[in-house]
Amino acid sequence: MAREIFTEGVVLRRWYAGEHDKWISLLTPAHGKLRLRVRGARKPQSKMGMLTEPLNLLKARVIEGRAQKLIAQPQLNRGYLALRTDLERLSVALALCETLDRWLPDEQAEPEAYATLVIALEALEAGAPAEPTAAWALWRWLAMLGYCPDLRRCAQCGKELGDEGVCFLPTESVLLCPRCARQREGIELTADALSLLRQWTQGERLNPDACPASCRSLIRAALRYAECALESPVRWLEFWERLNALRESG
Ligand SMILES: [Zn+2]
Repeated sequence: MAREIFTEGVVLRRWYAGEHDKWISLLTPAHGKLRLRVRGARKPQSKMGMLTEPLNLLKARVIEGRAQKLIAQPQLNRGYLALRTDLERLSVALALCETLDRWLPDEQAEPEAYATLVIALEALEAGAPAEPTAAWALWRWLAMLGYCPDLRRCAQCGKELGDEGVCFLPTESVLLCPRCARQREGIELTADALSLLRQWTQGERLNPDACPASCRSLIRAALRYAECALESPVRWLEFWERLNALRESG
């Protein structure tokens, strides 16, 4: 990175440092994920503090200091105000940011991962349902990071998949046909879920009207897979399942 750059980026996460400052993790299109110090962010009425909260899409200067990088003159590009008024969309948007923060290494350009996040946030802002948006983004990211099982054939007998449901074994990163899946512990995916997974990992666009049940199983599959492949814990899966149970019980 040059000594000073001007970039846009989405704030993925923030944490506090000392009495007056905080740190943020900012995902940028060309410089990847940057850890930046925000000077004076915790002082009361700090504009810097308000602008550098998670989910905000900023334009800002990033200055390379001796031991750390600093953010300066942030300007708010998108605040995603509509999605912040809906508990489910807000939770999912924050969870997506936190997940990406955990999955991506520091300072490696991942322009597609950035574009996927922005598309997901824009979709949620425009009122897209949470399940397809989250399932789409999570599987796009996994595929970009090089994690995707073979979606064409059963890993055990070689049978072509697609006419019926499959069983996904996240620990082994494989799909099995129903016959081979007997007595194996995995995540059941319907033929519809498998078809969505094929489309998304090949780069197809988010389809907000995708079946919510298929999307829920794909979210569960993505997060369990990440737990095995990326050793990334799935704290928000539990929250999501509680939220769903609450909604289903009326
Ligand atoms: Zn088989």
